[in-house]
Amino acid sequence: MEYKIGVISGDGIGPEIVAEARKVLDRIAKVYGHTFTYEEILLGGASIDACGVPLTDEAIAQAKSSDAVLMGSIGGNTTTSPWYQLPPDKRPEAGLLKIRKALNLFANLRPAYLYEELKSACPIKDELIGDGFDMLIMRELTGGLYFGERGTEEVDGILTAHDSLTYNEHEIRRIAVKGFEIARKRRGKVTSVDKANVLDSSRLWRKVVEEVAKDYPEVSYEHMLVDNCAMQLVRNPGQFDVILTENMFGDILSDEASMVTGSIGMLSSASLNDTKFGLYEPSHGSAPDIAGKDIANPIATILSAAMMLRYSLDLDQEAAAVEAAVKQVLADNFRTVDIYSEGTQKVGCARMGELICERING
Ligand code: NAD
Repeated sequence: MEYKIGVISGDGIGPEIVAEARKVLDRIAKVYGHTFTYEEILLGGASIDACGVPLTDEAIAQAKSSDAVLMGSIGGNTTTSPWYQLPPDKRPEAGLLKIRKALNLFANLRPAYLYEELKSACPIKDELIGDGFDMLIMRELTGGLYFGERGTEEVDGILTAHDSLTYNEHEIRRIAVKGFEIARKRRGKVTSVDKANVLDSSRLWRKVVEEVAKDYPEVSYEHMLVDNCAMQLVRNPGQFDVILTENMFGDILSDEASMVTGSIGMLSSASLNDTKFGLYEPSHGSAPDIAGKDIANPIATILSAAMMLRYSLDLDQEAAAVEAAVKQVLADNFRTVDIYSEGTQKVGCARMGELICERING
């Protein structure tokens, strides 16, 4: 099959880690008989330097005409980079927010997986980790508290602020459908997280999730209050498959879930719209402190490319091959500096990419 992939190399370590993800995609293409064509798209600091703005209309059009977009990361050193002397709406991150909006990316997926070999980086006790964990946080990304009406005013001489949390049933249904669809591709369990004992928006969330669940009899589901979920993530993370939740709860829980995996260089993510299209990027930033040194860990980006294969291109077998190659490279004791421990072999970014490619053989 032939696919067109938009590529945002971005800033800092972005170009280095994306180059390794492309190597891996090229290896997949060769082994499984596909053709991937790539189109470079400018975003963030690279776009400011070339075009004077963090995102152009042309870049949005390029992204829209792709089957999926793979991104490194954008942004620079927020204290020293001249990009941060610009007004907020002209800075690198403004481009990222704008492209997410332009592409209607309402579903954010962040897997949290514990690799046996990296268990020592996990802050949870062994007896609680058990056989490890493999979960995916699905967070609603374009509604809720962060997009609601807000304001600060003086009421009777007292400064008073408010933020409103609004969801309509359509917004809930489309993310719930995504959650159940994705659970079907995984272990078939959805934990829908809300605060239905207090919030009306959560009671509507629960009602719509129950309606959607009826269309997926093969997927089991449960409701969990957000405060309990925050506890369960550190008490028994192995119980979760897909955690489905609204924007603010997802923001907090996905950071908690990624912390328990122990390594920022390993965390992939995807943002999807209601077609097959998605933007795939590592959860970490552009790490300007290590840019250009060939020491960044490319695995989060490589795993994001695997998510792209699975969710946008429907190439499940190929995605699994990339994930298996990552597991194998760790089992074979190779580590980038961020996940290095004594007794393992330290390699650079480019070498790590090659080692993963060597482990994809169909
Ligand atoms: P960061 O994630 O870039 O770096 C935090 C620390 O983790 C640094 O010490 C860095 O060296 C290390 N690190 C990150 N990724 C790594 C990797 N793959 N391999 C090895 N080490 C890695 O966060 P920051 O320093 O707060 O932000 C730097 C820039 O990135 C800022 O401009 C910020 O706005 C931007 N940022 C972009 C995104 C994005 O593109 N989606 C996300 C977060 C931050």
